[in-house]
Amino acid sequence: MNDLSLIQNNYKKLLSSLPDNVQLVVVSKTHPVESIQHIYDLGQKVFGENRVQELLEKQALLPQDIQWHLIGHLQTNKVKYIAPFIDLIQSVDSPKILKEINRQAKIAERKIKVLLQVKIAAEDTKYGLSFEEARGLFNQYLQGDFPYVKVTGLMGMATFTDDHIQITKEFSMLKKLFEEFNGKTELETLSMGMSGDFPVAIAAGATSIRVGSAIFGTR
Ligand SMILES: *Cc1c(COP(=O)(O)O)cnc(C)c1O
Repeated sequence: MNDLSLIQNNYKKLLSSLPDNVQLVVVSKTHPVESIQHIYDLGQKVFGENRVQELLEKQALLPQDIQWHLIGHLQTNKVKYIAPFIDLIQSVDSPKILKEINRQAKIAERKIKVLLQVKIAAEDTKYGLSFEEARGLFNQYLQGDFPYVKVTGLMGMATFTDDHIQITKEFSMLKKLFEEFNGKTELETLSMGMSGDFPVAIAAGATSIRVGSAIFGTR
């Protein structure tokens, strides 16, 4: 089997193992447009990238009906480049970035969907809002502070560990916050789970998973 059919096989296997109500976001960062095209050819429309520059280069070369998700930390000076086309920004980690997304969405004359990224990992290295910051920002949103933004859910990354009990605990905390917010306005997306922990995330209530290396191989 060549590399491209291996990637296609990984994708098909993964997709058929998922419950119907769980969305798969294929994380294509560092992988070439040829590989992405091969997954697209199997019917996949939703892809995630973590860097704006790389996203822009690929977006220009690939089919225009791909729904691109930004899943990495976003700098305020880069929002303008993705505002015209981005389907979902999963990585809103500060009031400042949400304000800028709202501003650029207005200029682009569209509403931009976002997820609030919440810090659930024990590690210190990851971006994200604390639970209290997420509550504060979500309340501001509910009060109408960001009219060109639609908050459709939450995103989180668990600690990088084999300890399933810890990962389950972290995902379950986010699921609880999701239910709390979902009681105030209807949300659709709880994005949690990557190649190493997506089965745990699905068991804990994820509606969307972000998978790269389980499809493309290790980076
Ligand atoms: C890279 C990345 C993923 C995918 O990670 P894999 O382990 O390759 O599946 C998911 N989410 C975010 C935010 C990422 O940066």
